[in-house]
Amino acid sequence: MHHLLIFGPPGVGKGTQSALIAEKLNLFHLSTGEYLRKAIDEGTELGLKAKDIVEKGKLVPDDIMIGIVAQALEDNTAGKDGFILDGFPRTLDQAKALDVIFQKMSVTDIRVLYLTSHEDELVERLLKRGRKDDTEEIIRHRLHIYEESTKPIIEYYRETKEVVEIDGVGAVEDIFVIISEKLNK
Ligand code: AMP
Repeated sequence: MHHLLIFGPPGVGKGTQSALIAEKLNLFHLSTGEYLRKAIDEGTELGLKAKDIVEKGKLVPDDIMIGIVAQALEDNTAGKDGFILDGFPRTLDQAKALDVIFQKMSVTDIRVLYLTSHEDELVERLLKRGRKDDTEEIIRHRLHIYEESTKPIIEYYRETKEVVEIDGVGAVEDIFVIISEKLNK
């Protein structure tokens, strides 16, 4: 069984790697960003609530997100060999609520995958592949915001869980091999 939380800045290939890991290891893959975008596209009650917030790049309230994750894990982990959460938790309160969810599920072997890389490499990647009107300054700002908001969560996990750090810049297949090796240790 694998119970994984994946973190990584824009440009590091977190979404791609999450999907590969989920497929290879038969894990339930929950990307909270994708989940919200789907709800918005479908115009569900959640979608209507979340639309404005997501479009402004703000965070959907913790209680809504925690409810989504708890329910999704309950509904989708049967028949799977674990799960990978991508985009959650985004706040310390979400992380603490997640610990309670894991306790109720009797899941103790959580591992945190932190895909990261040198800022300059990420900037170069994002300049090549990012949005058209992105400047280097905007990109660096976005990376700093990501780092600042993620730091306390990673620190929280370092106290109680295994945090596996991986340099995520390189060919998709190469990074995937490195991740697989680390997971099988
Ligand atoms: P992402 O694809 O992970 O970048 O998520 C896209 C957007 O969905 C974010 O900018 C937030 O508005 C919202 N979102 C995704 N995950 C969360 C979360 N765990 N807590 C709050 N908002 C979230």
